[in-house]
Amino acid sequence: MIYDAVVIGGGPGGYVAAIRIAQLGGKVAVVEKDQLGGTCLNRGCIPTKSLIAAVDKLGIISEATEFGINVSKPVIDFSKVQGRKAEIVEKLVGGIKYLFNKNKINHFNGNAKIKTANLIEVKVGAEVQEIKCKNIIIATGSSPALIQSLGYNGSTIITSEEVLNLTEVPKSLLIIGAGVIGCEFAHIYGSLGTEITMVEAASSILALQDKDISRRMQTIFKKKKIIIKTNASIKKINSTKEGIVAELESGEMISTEKALISIGRRLNTQNLGLEENGVELGNKGQILVNDYMETNIKGIYAVGDVVSKYQLAHVASIQGIVAAENIMGQESKMDYSAVPSCIFTNPEVATVGLTEQQVKQMGIPVKTGKFNFMANGKALCMGESEGFVKVVTHQETDVILGVHIIGPHASDLIAEATLAVKKGLTAKELVTTIHAHPTLAEAIMEAAENVHGLSIHG
Ligand code: FAD
Repeated sequence: MIYDAVVIGGGPGGYVAAIRIAQLGGKVAVVEKDQLGGTCLNRGCIPTKSLIAAVDKLGIISEATEFGINVSKPVIDFSKVQGRKAEIVEKLVGGIKYLFNKNKINHFNGNAKIKTANLIEVKVGAEVQEIKCKNIIIATGSSPALIQSLGYNGSTIITSEEVLNLTEVPKSLLIIGAGVIGCEFAHIYGSLGTEITMVEAASSILALQDKDISRRMQTIFKKKKIIIKTNASIKKINSTKEGIVAELESGEMISTEKALISIGRRLNTQNLGLEENGVELGNKGQILVNDYMETNIKGIYAVGDVVSKYQLAHVASIQGIVAAENIMGQESKMDYSAVPSCIFTNPEVATVGLTEQQVKQMGIPVKTGKFNFMANGKALCMGESEGFVKVVTHQETDVILGVHIIGPHASDLIAEATLAVKKGLTAKELVTTIHAHPTLAEAIMEAAENVHGLSIHG
């Protein structure tokens, strides 16, 4: 049999691409060396959010007395928290298997290598199989980046993969790198009672966010007694009987039970046959693709973390759909004009479009509007009034260029802002859209009103 396409990697880029090819009448196979669902389902988005849901429940129970509900001190059964997480992952992986059966997608459980643009070699143990195809989609994702001096050992010095599966809550944790993943784990383990120290080489945590957002999150973390050391880097880490000792470049020593390395992701492009087939890579090792997700080699496509445009599951999936549609003869092009991204701390952060700093750097005249959740009725009723919405607009055209939210349910609220940025709506158009009361979404409307100094409650 000759497949219309073989997809290498069964993460959100790969499995979604395979389903779309099948929906369009193509014959498709997915080669996955580990579990279907990839990083996202097994070691990323889903397990972290399951743990976050547990610690957020703990937060609600701990604050219940404020709502007039007296409860005794909650006790954490960490093995049950982890068990629930495993069940959710299993259910979702099972869901993909079901969708593969329904769509008649063949699944090979093995390690794939590209022999030619029309031939894939799959190794399952010692056995080698060959699969013929008209097209290939590379969706092999990424893994935690490591630096030798940090001394990764998988037990006391660990990555996001091991920290997700701890069987006991550590007494103390050093988090190296205060980006999205580092901050989510600071929230998870900080809420479970772990003493957290974060070391970040940049001048703030969440350094890529709008400055107002990263500043506010830093203040919130500090209130939660999370120790943050910015403009700081680790010289070396040694394991000791009690845990680890890290030496900073400044000479300061930090001792904790465990250290989490969260300094970024390494792209899974090794041993795939890319060099042998002349697939072009960029200066960060990313696979170079055009707007149709095709590489420089006709019929070889790449999607998701390996193309390193954004390392987000929803971007991987959209790229997978674009590649699939092009393979099936429908012209489909990527559009990155409005990519939402979320950070599942408490409060959450969600952002789309340009930051105020980026707009200024581009020399575009900028006008912003802000609204605090403190003045939002629904947020006050929920007892979750920390944070704000910031709307960034073009001063002359009033077009919304970016929206940045730190506050309750920010990850759900960002959908409206994403549509506004994608459709090039003006702040005026957003505020003349009626928002239901009392809702958190009113904060977006008021922030947009505030661009013109007309926020009623601000
Ligand atoms: P992956 O999901 O990495 O899947 C690639 C698959 O390819 C893997 O299953 C791998 O086993 C397989 N593979 C690799 N090489 C081969 C080979 N040679 N042969 C066969 N199979 C192979 N993103 C969000 O949008 N929201 C979040 O909340 C979020 N949270 C995250 C939390 C953590 C802790 C981490 C680490 C990541 C998180 N991400 C999140 C990022 C998200 O997980 C990735 O962007 C997404 O999984 C990328 O999808 P992908 O399909 O490109 O690759």
